[in-house]
Amino acid sequence: MKTFGYAAHSGKAPLAPYTFERREPRANDVVIEIKYCGICHSDIHTVRDEWGAKTYPLIPGHEIAGVVTRVGAGVSKHKIGDVVGVGCLVDSCRECSPCKDHLEQFCEKGMIGTYGSTDKDGTMTQGGYSSQIVVDQDFVLKMPKNLPLDAAAPLLCAGITLYSPLNHWKAGPGKKVAIIGMGGLGHMGVKIAAALGAEVTVLSQSLSKQEDGKRLGAKHFYATSDKETFKKLGGHFDLIINTVSANLDWNQYLGLLKHDGTMVVVGIPEKEVPVNAFSIVMGRRSLAGSLIGGIKETQEMLDFCGKHNITCDIELIPVSKINEAYERVIKSDVRYRFVIDMKTLQA
Ligand code: NAP
Ligand code: ZN
Repeated sequence: MKTFGYAAHSGKAPLAPYTFERREPRANDVVIEIKYCGICHSDIHTVRDEWGAKTYPLIPGHEIAGVVTRVGAGVSKHKIGDVVGVGCLVDSCRECSPCKDHLEQFCEKGMIGTYGSTDKDGTMTQGGYSSQIVVDQDFVLKMPKNLPLDAAAPLLCAGITLYSPLNHWKAGPGKKVAIIGMGGLGHMGVKIAAALGAEVTVLSQSLSKQEDGKRLGAKHFYATSDKETFKKLGGHFDLIINTVSANLDWNQYLGLLKHDGTMVVVGIPEKEVPVNAFSIVMGRRSLAGSLIGGIKETQEMLDFCGKHNITCDIELIPVSKINEAYERVIKSDVRYRFVIDMKTLQA
């Protein structure tokens, strides 16, 4: 099926219009007309070749929201006209132990990512900066009916990436939770942790986002450029989620955990980060990581956000502004997620 999109043709080239073919829907496939797609920092890392070789042309985008336009003969979960979403993965082996445990993101054979992955038929997957996508029904999510679709699209990556560790490490009443970095992921972390009932603190580079942080549900807001912050908050938190992709000194942040506290890394720095054993030995602290979430948990997150009226704070842009938006994301100049309006995509 002829599809229009915006693709990177190399790690250095700006994204540009590109026409390509999607597969005809198979029995279990759903065809989705894409209405909106968020811009995740991972899209930028990937197309700029910071995470290892990719095949170009490459169409990024894994915060996809749209409407079902066709279904295969075997589809029972979705019907034409349904408002649906697709996140970071479009398939997995479905047979290994993580897949059976609804942790498809940890599939032992490797999850099939929404873009830049080799699909089961040997073709390369292409993402959501495009007019339509064809996805197996089991990897298609139902969007909450009460949320505006543009502002709900980034829940498919930014939302689940924060919901999953907050859920796993039991953020809730009586828990002190810190979010490092208030960007696309971080601002969702503030909203979701507050809705779960935790006491939320933002650790940001400066105080420039303080007012927003409080509006989104944070009780406290500190600048990490101020050395006093680290003295004042030593041994304070049960859970810290680090969303920053810059090389921070993790030892300094581990020191902000209570005994038995956990720091979860979701932001992915380009270089290795040294960790001093004393930072975790003292206080039996844990350093952990987390990767998006499985399909079941993603649906649970969408339902939770629907119930609590949680969406992303977005700036809606036409496709012609994608390259400009990339530069602004790199400069942390976005409040707090760019979302592409696909009706501006011209054939
Ligand atoms: P983003 O919107 O650019 O936000 C990152 C935030 O980090 C910025 O808003 C800024 O917050 C802070 N920051 C930026 N540069 C910094 C620096 N030099 N020092 C300290 N803080 C800095 O990016 P995002 O889309 O939220 O993604 C964040 C990271 O998560 C990326 O590495 C992305 O690839 C990764 N990611 C991981 C997963 C996963 O499953 N683990 C999923 C999606 C994305 P302040 O202004 O508040 O300091
Ligand atoms: Zn993402």
